[in-house]
Amino acid sequence: MSPGVGIWRCRSCRTAVFPQRLLCPHCHGQEFDEDRVHEGVVEEISIIRHMIGQPDWKPRRIANVRTASGPSITVGLRDESGPGAVVELFEDEKAPVGKAKVR
Ligand SMILES: [Zn+2]
Repeated sequence: MSPGVGIWRCRSCRTAVFPQRLLCPHCHGQEFDEDRVHEGVVEEISIIRHMIGQPDWKPRRIANVRTASGPSITVGLRDESGPGAVVELFEDEKAPVGKAKVR
């Protein structure tokens, strides 16, 4: 796993977006710089109980995480963190994941 999750930041107004977009939602700029976010606060949890075509699927928890630098991102949760928890963000084979920050 690599630390942080890649986001994109508009080169003209610095608005952060995730996932990547063609145009900045704020100023319609077309140029972005890559940036990384390393932690966020869990806003909402969902559980994916079934996946079409995958009979051996184990329920997975995913979280909507509000990052300090702007965008909310959806990550797979690796522990029992609930709403309000601060989680550290990682990329696992390009998939964003989060787990409770060790204090
Ligand atoms: Zn912009």
